[in-house]
Amino acid sequence: MRLVVDLNKCQGYAQCAFLAPDVFAMHGEESLVYNPRAEEEQRERLARAVAACPVQAITADGLDGAKESASQSALGASDGH
Ligand code: SF4
Repeated sequence: MRLVVDLNKCQGYAQCAFLAPDVFAMHGEESLVYNPRAEEEQRERLARAVAACPVQAITADGLDGAKESASQSALGASDGH
Protein backbone atom coordinates (compact mmCIF):
# COMPACT_ATOMS: atom_id res chain seq x y z
CA MET A 1 0.00 0.00 0.00
CA ARG A 2 1.15 3.52 -0.55
CA LEU A 3 1.70 6.05 2.13
CA VAL A 4 2.76 9.64 2.41
CA VAL A 5 4.14 11.50 5.38
CA ASP A 6 3.66 15.22 5.38
CA LEU A 7 7.14 16.14 6.52
CA ASN A 8 6.06 19.71 7.10
CA LYS A 9 3.69 18.48 9.75
CA CYS A 10 5.93 15.78 11.14
CA GLN A 11 7.51 16.83 14.42
CA GLY A 12 9.79 13.83 14.71
CA TYR A 13 7.96 12.31 17.65
CA ALA A 14 8.95 8.88 16.33
CA GLN A 15 5.69 7.25 17.36
CA CYS A 16 5.45 5.76 13.90
CA ALA A 17 9.03 4.45 13.97
CA PHE A 18 8.26 2.81 17.28
CA LEU A 19 5.03 1.20 16.11
CA ALA A 20 6.02 0.27 12.58
CA PRO A 21 9.82 0.04 12.55
CA ASP A 22 9.85 -1.73 9.19
CA VAL A 23 8.18 1.21 7.55
CA PHE A 24 9.45 4.25 9.44
CA ALA A 25 12.85 5.08 10.84
CA MET A 26 14.39 8.13 12.39
CA HIS A 27 17.57 9.51 10.94
CA GLY A 28 19.13 11.67 13.53
CA GLU A 29 16.98 13.56 15.99
CA GLU A 30 14.29 14.93 13.76
CA SER A 31 14.34 13.60 10.25
CA LEU A 32 12.08 10.77 9.38
CA VAL A 33 12.66 8.32 6.57
CA TYR A 34 9.98 5.90 5.47
CA ASN A 35 9.08 3.38 2.87
CA PRO A 36 6.37 4.95 0.70
CA ARG A 37 5.34 1.51 -0.54
CA ALA A 38 4.80 -0.52 2.57
CA GLU A 39 4.35 -4.25 2.44
CA GLU A 40 0.86 -5.58 2.74
CA GLU A 41 1.74 -7.35 5.97
CA GLN A 42 2.59 -3.99 7.52
CA ARG A 43 -1.03 -2.91 7.25
CA GLU A 44 -1.90 -3.36 10.90
CA ARG A 45 1.23 -1.71 12.23
CA LEU A 46 0.84 1.03 9.73
CA ALA A 47 -2.73 1.63 10.88
CA ARG A 48 -1.49 1.95 14.43
CA ALA A 49 1.23 4.35 13.40
CA VAL A 50 -1.28 6.47 11.49
CA ALA A 51 -3.55 6.58 14.52
CA ALA A 52 -0.68 7.29 16.91
CA CYS A 53 0.93 10.16 15.07
CA PRO A 54 0.25 13.19 17.26
CA VAL A 55 0.05 15.54 14.31
CA GLN A 56 -1.73 13.24 11.81
CA ALA A 57 1.14 13.58 9.38
CA ILE A 58 0.73 10.10 7.90
CA THR A 59 -1.68 9.36 5.10
CA ALA A 60 -1.98 5.82 3.82
CA ASP A 61 -3.85 5.00 0.64
CA GLY A 62 -4.51 1.36 1.21
CA LEU A 63 -5.84 1.89 4.70
CA ASP A 64 -8.61 4.31 3.86
CA GLY A 65 -10.53 1.94 1.64
CA ALA A 66 -10.22 -1.14 3.80
CA LYS A 67 -10.32 0.43 7.23
CA GLU A 68 -12.55 3.43 6.99
CA SER A 69 -14.34 2.59 10.19
CA ALA A 70 -11.01 2.05 11.94
CA SER A 71 -9.83 5.55 11.24
CA GLN A 72 -13.18 6.91 12.39
CA SER A 73 -13.09 4.97 15.62
CA ALA A 74 -9.53 6.22 16.09
CA LEU A 75 -10.88 9.74 15.95
CA GLY A 76 -13.62 8.86 18.36
CA ALA A 77 -11.18 7.14 20.67
CA SER A 78 -8.97 10.19 21.00
CA ASP A 79 -12.10 12.04 22.06
CA GLY A 80 -13.75 9.77 24.50
CA HIS A 81 -10.88 7.74 25.77
S1 SF4 B 1 4.59 9.82 14.49
FE1 SF4 B 1 4.06 11.51 13.14
S2 SF4 B 1 5.21 13.26 13.92
FE2 SF4 B 1 6.10 11.41 14.80
S3 SF4 B 1 7.80 10.89 13.43
FE3 SF4 B 1 5.99 9.74 12.76
S4 SF4 B 1 5.04 11.04 11.21
FE4 SF4 B 1 6.45 12.31 12.36
